[in-house]
Amino acid sequence: MQDLIIVGGGIGGASLAFHAARAGARVLVLEKDSEPGGCLCTARTDAGFWYELGAHTCYNSYGAFLELLEGCELMGELQPRAKPVLRFLDDGRVLPGKNLGLLASQFSKLELFASIPRWFGGSQEGQTVRSYYSRFVGAKNYERVLGPMLSAVPSQTADDFPADMLFKKRERRKDVLRSFTLKRGLQTAVERALARPGVTLRTNAAAKGVERSSRGFVVVLESGERLEAAKLALALPPQAAAKLLGGVAPEVAALAAQLKEAELDTLGFAVRAERVHVPTATFLIPLKDQFHSIVTRDVVPDPTWRGFAMHFRPGLAREARVRRACEVLGLSPSDLEAVRERRVRLPSPVLGHADTVRALDARLAKLPLALTGNWFGGLAIEDCVLRSRAEWQRLATLG
Ligand SMILES: Cc1cc2nc3c(=O)[nH]c(=O)nc-3n(C[C@H](O)[C@H](O)[C@H](O)COP(=O)(O)OP(=O)(O)OC[C@H]3O[C@@H](n4cnc5c(N)ncnc54)[C@H](O)[C@@H]3O)c2cc1C
Repeated sequence: MQDLIIVGGGIGGASLAFHAARAGARVLVLEKDSEPGGCLCTARTDAGFWYELGAHTCYNSYGAFLELLEGCELMGELQPRAKPVLRFLDDGRVLPGKNLGLLASQFSKLELFASIPRWFGGSQEGQTVRSYYSRFVGAKNYERVLGPMLSAVPSQTADDFPADMLFKKRERRKDVLRSFTLKRGLQTAVERALARPGVTLRTNAAAKGVERSSRGFVVVLESGERLEAAKLALALPPQAAAKLLGGVAPEVAALAAQLKEAELDTLGFAVRAERVHVPTATFLIPLKDQFHSIVTRDVVPDPTWRGFAMHFRPGLAREARVRRACEVLGLSPSDLEAVRERRVRLPSPVLGHADTVRALDARLAKLPLALTGNWFGGLAIEDCVLRSRAEWQRLATLG
């Protein structure tokens, strides 16, 4: 029997496994997909090229994530990223200019100047992203320009997010690159954490139910197999966690079920560099389109290939996604190589989210059950690792 079963092999689950195994626990991680990583998903081609379908950037303010990288002996794998270049797309056309200059050029100056008196004072507390940022640029500038740009950050419409959940100020580690990825992509961090001594990973192992047993918990897989451990952790999106917990922790399940989620469909591909004519960019953000953003591999340039992950709003058929990708980048479908598609569910916090999480934590406090992932302190990798570290510390004190 294992000491701890973790359901979900994204960075939330992997970082919890890292801390538990480091403390001597025997850990089993169950992942429904054929490989671990979740939103850390690196597509690797036979030609040695890679691009990210999910998370792409880490910062030297990610102290807990850096602790994990150090523990997994990955600090030598840190890969610098070129300076970010942001470009806007208007009806699929790349607008001239980049970064702040381009952003400023898209605003109505009249509305922007009229907003100046509102620039000073006022906190983010109790404000949505829309209400907070509209103050600075005006409602119309927000809707047309700033809103789409901010929605590219969480890859979903960010208008109703609590303003204080979008960006976080954290202490920086001066001895580490300001922003980085890993030499073979960020999924490496999950792979290495789950390959540590004491951790067993099972892929293609979807959990469909959880029961209490005299010795702890039993996780029932979709295959019908039953696995037992003294402690249990769920590192899943809130709705999936709620579904599993209904029978063992109904109050926690009911609170998790209140939290909203969004679906994201990502189309990723590599293209021979000479076939692409759009200028290099880190992010291509449409002012209005079927997708939230295109994130490229241009920050780690390659002489032969360019890589793209196009993050679509839900509801489009595959052919429509491929068609739009080709229209926007001036390609034909045969140019797209190493194509990967991915659908993920993301938390979609609204005002009151933090109160729900606090209530949920109060009910978890004495249970040998941990919940982790990107729906507690925030959506970034660092938030997941911080939560996992704290949840392991809590579980460990329960004996
Ligand atoms: C497109 C995109 C770009 C991003 N960019 C950045 C970035 O640059 N920097 C940054 O810091 N953050 C970024 N983020 C956010 C960050 O990547 C995520 O918040 C984080 O990786 C989520 O990790 P998680 O472990 O909480 O959840 P997930 O990664 O969603 O992992 C959950 C895992 O559980 C598995 N699972 C689900 N149900 C079951 C089940 N029943 N049984 C077993 N397994 C199950 C899933 O397959 C998945 O692997 C980005 C996110 C996205 C989507």
